[in-house]
Amino acid sequence: MAVRAGIRRSGFGENSEAIFLTQGYAYESAEQAEARFIEAGEDEFIYTRYGNPTIRMFEERMAAIEGTEDAFASASGMAAVHATLMSVLSAGDRVVSSRALFGSNLFILQNVLPRFGVDVALVDGTDPEQWKREIRPGTKAVFLESVSNPVLEVIDIKFVCELARKHGALAIVDNAVSTPVFQDTLRLGADVVIYSATKHIDGQGRCLGGIVLGTSDFIRKVLEPFQKHTGAAISPFNAWVMLKGLETVELRCNAQADSALALAMKIDGHPKCRRVIYPHLPNHPQHEIAISQMTKGGTVISIDFEGGKEMAFRFINALKIIGISNNFGDAKSLVTHPATTTHQRLTPEFRSELGIGAGLVRISIGLESSADLEKDIEAALDAA
Ligand SMILES: *Cc1c(COP(=O)(O)O)cnc(C)c1O
Repeated sequence: MAVRAGIRRSGFGENSEAIFLTQGYAYESAEQAEARFIEAGEDEFIYTRYGNPTIRMFEERMAAIEGTEDAFASASGMAAVHATLMSVLSAGDRVVSSRALFGSNLFILQNVLPRFGVDVALVDGTDPEQWKREIRPGTKAVFLESVSNPVLEVIDIKFVCELARKHGALAIVDNAVSTPVFQDTLRLGADVVIYSATKHIDGQGRCLGGIVLGTSDFIRKVLEPFQKHTGAAISPFNAWVMLKGLETVELRCNAQADSALALAMKIDGHPKCRRVIYPHLPNHPQHEIAISQMTKGGTVISIDFEGGKEMAFRFINALKIIGISNNFGDAKSLVTHPATTTHQRLTPEFRSELGIGAGLVRISIGLESSADLEKDIEAALDAA
C-alpha cells in the first residue's frame, strides 16, 4: 500500500506519480464550472487549496496505510493539529489533553484555544486516574501524543480512547513519533490520527507537511470546510515528496528503530546517564504498554545526563556524525537539547513537571551505519 495505493495516472500513463503543479483547473463550459462548485466528483478538482491530484494521491495512500476512510493533507504537522482542534471545538467546549506534548501543540492548547473560550485541561497522560477525573460528560475532545516528544512517555491509548468514547468525546492522537509503521492507532481506538509528515514520512529532511486521517464524515464535513477556507494547503510538490517518501517509509523506520534499540541497550546503565529513555527498553516506565502498542520502539532515544546542561552540551558538541538540529525521523541522525530549544519558552517549573530537565538530550537515529553511530556516541560520552 505504501508503494502503490492511491495512484492516479494521467492520460500519459506515467509510471511514477506525477506532480500536478497547478493552482487551478480549466472548465469546458460555464455549466461545468457551476456543476463542479455544487458537487465535485472523484476526479474533479476546483482549486489546489481545496484539492489537487498529487495531494489526493498522498491522502489516499495515507488513508490506505492507516485504514481510515479518508484523509486531508496540510502545509505542516502544526497546520494539521491546529485545523483539527479549531474545526472541532467551539467556545464553552472542553478538551482534555496529555501535557507531555510537542512544544507547538502545547502552545495551541495553552495559548490559543483558551482565547476562544475553550476549556482546556492538561493531565499527566501516564496516570489513568487523571484521565478519569478530567474526561467528563460533555467533554468534546481528547488529545494525546504517544510516544510523546521529547520525554518518550507512552500513554495507554486504548484506555484513554475507550474513556473518551464513553463520554462522547472525539479521540485525537498525534502519532508523529510512533510513526505509521509501528503503531496501529486506529485499532487502539483513535477517531482521528494526525501526522507531521515532515518527520518519518518525508524522512529525508526536505519538506514540511501534515495530514489528518479519520472517517469520511469527519474529514469531509468537519475538517475540510475549515481547512480549505483557512489556507494551510500543502504544496503539490511537497505532497509528491511525501508520496515518494512513503515508498520507503517502512524500510527506513525499521532500520532506524533497529539501530535505536541496539544503541539504547548499549548505553543504558552508562555512569554519566541518569536515564536512557527508549520505549522498548525493559526499564521504561510504560514498557509493557509500549510493547503491546508498538511493534518496535521507534527511532528516537532520549538521555538524561547526570551533569545537567553542561554535561549535555559537552556531549552534543563532541558528536562528530550526529548533527545538531531540532528535526527527527530524518535519514541523518540528529541531536537536540529540548530545554534550550524546542521547549525553551516554558517555565523551568513546567519543564521539570514534564521531565524536560537541563540534562535531557534527544537523539533521532538515522540511517548511518549503526556501528559508526555507536562509536560517535561512545566517544561523546567519554568527552561529556
Ligand atoms: C514535529 C511535530 C509536530 C509539528 O509538525 P510540523 O510538520 O513541524 O509542523 C506536531 N506534533 C509532533 C509530535 C511533532 O513531533
